[in-house]
Amino acid sequence: MTDFPMIINGLPVSAAEHFDVKNPATGETVGRAPNASRDHLDQAVAAAETAFASWSQQPDAVRAQACLDIAGKLGEQAEDLAQLLTREQGKPLNGLGSRFELGGARAWAAHTASLSLPVKVLQDNEQGRVELHRKPIGVVGSITPWNWPVMIAVWHILPAVRSGNTVVVKPSPFTPLSTIRLVELMNEVLPPGVVNVVCSDDQATNIGAAISAHPGIRKIVFTGSINTGKKVMASAAETVKRLTLELGGNDAAIVLPDVDPKAIAEGLFWGAFINNGQTCAAMKRLYVHESVYDEVCAALVDYAKAVPVGPGTDEASVLGPVNNRMQFDKVKRLVDAAKHKGRVLLGGEPGEGLFFPPTLIADLSHDDPLVFDEQFGPALPIIKYSDLEDAIRQANDSPNGLGGSVWSQDIDKARQVANRLECGSVWINKHGAIQPNAPFGGVKSSGCGVEFGEEGLAEYTDIQVIYN
Ligand code: NAD
Repeated sequence: MTDFPMIINGLPVSAAEHFDVKNPATGETVGRAPNASRDHLDQAVAAAETAFASWSQQPDAVRAQACLDIAGKLGEQAEDLAQLLTREQGKPLNGLGSRFELGGARAWAAHTASLSLPVKVLQDNEQGRVELHRKPIGVVGSITPWNWPVMIAVWHILPAVRSGNTVVVKPSPFTPLSTIRLVELMNEVLPPGVVNVVCSDDQATNIGAAISAHPGIRKIVFTGSINTGKKVMASAAETVKRLTLELGGNDAAIVLPDVDPKAIAEGLFWGAFINNGQTCAAMKRLYVHESVYDEVCAALVDYAKAVPVGPGTDEASVLGPVNNRMQFDKVKRLVDAAKHKGRVLLGGEPGEGLFFPPTLIADLSHDDPLVFDEQFGPALPIIKYSDLEDAIRQANDSPNGLGGSVWSQDIDKARQVANRLECGSVWINKHGAIQPNAPFGGVKSSGCGVEFGEEGLAEYTDIQVIYN
């Protein structure tokens, strides 16, 4: 059994204790991750502080090239990383699974190299010159979830190092191994201490909590649940850390009466079931106009029942198991409650181990828990509406505001509805498609700040204005 190390100051560091990381498809141990102590975190922060002194002074071109070199490493090692990711996360190698995630991670890394934040001249006249400079903040603490662990680590780390910061990353205890491997690869490119990784099982020591309170860390970028995000925000207050919080979503999709149900079924399905629904900006509630309701339900069932579900290492699978028991139990509880209120069109009964089949439940109402809570799993509630105003009101009646979508052949009409949705991203005739040149983030309780693009890069900097 392989014991994975932490990486601190460019070197592997082992811990006194380890915890098992299980394959969700089989229950077998994939490897053992180190359980960091508070001392390990202090060492990692100290290494990152030391590295910051020189990394922050490197020419911009050096940091851009480092991002490109990391993208190159991700390309070279994509298959090995994808295999490890599938074994610890459960997602299939194929479909929108591990190979797709590695492709995305590489694309984001390369795009980050092309971004820049040049000095902005705010004024240059006889009264004087005023320049806005963007300066790196210091040590960034990155805390990641288990759903897209490699891609999200790249989303956090690459813009941080691109803009001159150094990083201590802490992956989820469910998926630490691919992040450790990722950081090893980054350390083949970067000077020691620029990117460090520590792990914990969140039990003996909660290293995530320690990171968000650590006085040596100047910014936290956190992706995870709203509840944990609130804790991060509270503990970051003491040292006034900068924060980017990408939190939960409960995205609504609104289907207008003029759609062709068969033509949209595939897009609706993958909008909801990408990564088994364990995706922040997946479609989590589907509002369909009564005039096309039965046809949309039927087309979705037809598409969904042909989707191969199985162990992620099986090349034929395009959906795998749920990642962990806690999440599985949550999905089961919400589906069990919904079964008594609505009509099960497909699925509804758990499979072996952590397998849960794609589940479609129709005739639910807006306040049923499967509709109102973030299920984060392979179960989609479908709600019939007759008045578009009601559908818009219900879509917005949520503490979350991450994404949303509108489905119609009338793009102008769809844009008008999109404009009224209270969320950070809205898609028309698709759901959840993000790209590295467009800022992504939530409104309301779905978070604060954005990632990607120049707006995302700017979040890793403080502004300094120089007057002369
Ligand atoms: P989680 O909040 O349970 O855990 C996220 C991370 O926080 C893990 O690394 C965990 O170890 C760490 N952590 C635990 N306690 C902590 C504490 N007290 N202080 C600091 N860190 C702590 O979330 P999860 O279950 O891993 O991920 C699922 C959630 O993430 C869903 O709600 C999903 O919508 C959200 N998510 C959001 C986005 C986005 O971009 N908005 C992306 C992916 C996932």
